[in-house]
Amino acid sequence: MTRPPRVAVVGAGVAGAGVASALGESALEVTVLERDDVAGGRTATHRRDGCRYDIGANYLSDGSERVSELVRTLDDGDLVDIGASVWTFDADGRISPGDEARADDHRWTFEGGLATLPRRLLERSGATVRTGCSVTSLEYASDEGRWIVDLGGEETNATAENLDADAVVLTPPGPATASILEASVDGSEESESQPQSTFQSQPQSQPQFQALAEAARSTPYRSVHSFALHYPFDLERPFYALVNTDREHPVGWVAREGEKRGHVPEGETLLIAQMASDWSVTHRSTPAADAAREAAARVAALLEDDRLADPDWTDLVEWRDALPDTDPDADADAETTGTDRLRGAESAGLFVASDCTHGRGRIHAALERGLTVGDRIRESFGSDRSH
Ligand SMILES: Cc1cc2nc3c(=O)[nH]c(=O)nc-3n(C[C@H](O)[C@H](O)[C@H](O)COP(=O)(O)OP(=O)(O)OC[C@H]3O[C@@H](n4cnc5c(N)ncnc54)[C@H](O)[C@@H]3O)c2cc1C
Repeated sequence: MTRPPRVAVVGAGVAGAGVASALGESALEVTVLERDDVAGGRTATHRRDGCRYDIGANYLSDGSERVSELVRTLDDGDLVDIGASVWTFDADGRISPGDEARADDHRWTFEGGLATLPRRLLERSGATVRTGCSVTSLEYASDEGRWIVDLGGEETNATAENLDADAVVLTPPGPATASILEASVDGSEESESQPQSTFQSQPQSQPQFQALAEAARSTPYRSVHSFALHYPFDLERPFYALVNTDREHPVGWVAREGEKRGHVPEGETLLIAQMASDWSVTHRSTPAADAAREAAARVAALLEDDRLADPDWTDLVEWRDALPDTDPDADADAETTGTDRLRGAESAGLFVASDCTHGRGRIHAALERGLTVGDRIRESFGSDRSH
């Protein structure tokens, strides 16, 4: 009996979970390798003192019909439509009611936070998920049409082994995807014979790792310091969140996490404050407590409430490669120039599903991308859904 083809997915964020989901119920053996101790990536939910809060992405908006339907199938009665509106502010901190045209948009999360989305997708896909596995490079044995995924981060663990795969998908942000590609090598033996692959029947050409890495690096990313600011009192406001529309204010986004069912106990306030990219870059070496104090002072001034300058606890995640530096709501069909180049190694079984491929930093776009790449892999192996 021949073994099932193996697919290694690097990254257990929404895109990686989307690939696994599309390959669920297929005859392929899927392993998802995640550097962190938990799945989720930029959909990150933290817990503290009875609060749950989304410290990366704050909500999921409606995507394609396929994405919206898939999200509904994940609802165990804990999908939350935040409902309340998003207002805007400008460089001078002038607040205005939000865009009426978008007033009816859904904004989703889960009672357990947005990280529920990739975790539930992965659970239901049947894929094997290995956390704490940092992929450092790939080796392509073109004479065998086989990939060796190097788990450099696990080398100190005597039981750890590198992973063999017939196809590999890279989902980390552009710079991390580029680092893996730059360290990757042709591991084929000198051979007179034509390369063979279980991936496709044709002889395989060598992936051009450096060209792929350059394409992955060509998408610039913004940095975001994302703070949780907690207060032991209630804060009433007519909006769920405020967004800075001219990118001229040090604060990019402030959201009232208590508007999400099940996230913040009554009588308390938890604000998520996401700082502008320039502010985040210049505060990279600022100690977290000092940065939090400065951010809270900015939020207090914006919301004209002095009490907000003094949170009783704070949390911070510095997202260095937070979002592609493009318009995240740009036309879904608008392709970036890197896209075609990043598909250049698919015939050898190397796929890129990172957001550097299209520059749209949105959860629904990441899920769509993962599903599409999963579909392409399934088609390449000629593997139909088993039921
Ligand atoms: C602060 C912030 C706010 C945002 N707000 C919103 C929002 O409100 N709404 C919205 O729709 N989108 C938002 N986004 C964007 C959204 O979070 C992303 O578009 C989406 O989560 C990207 O998913 P992904 O799977 O492509 O990437 P990621 O979530 O980054 O997943 C990649 C995974 O790869 C792992 N990884 C990296 N390197 C390696 C390695 N070498 N080996 C193994 N694993 C590795 C990472 O740990 C990560 O888990 C926000 C993002 C940030 C940072």
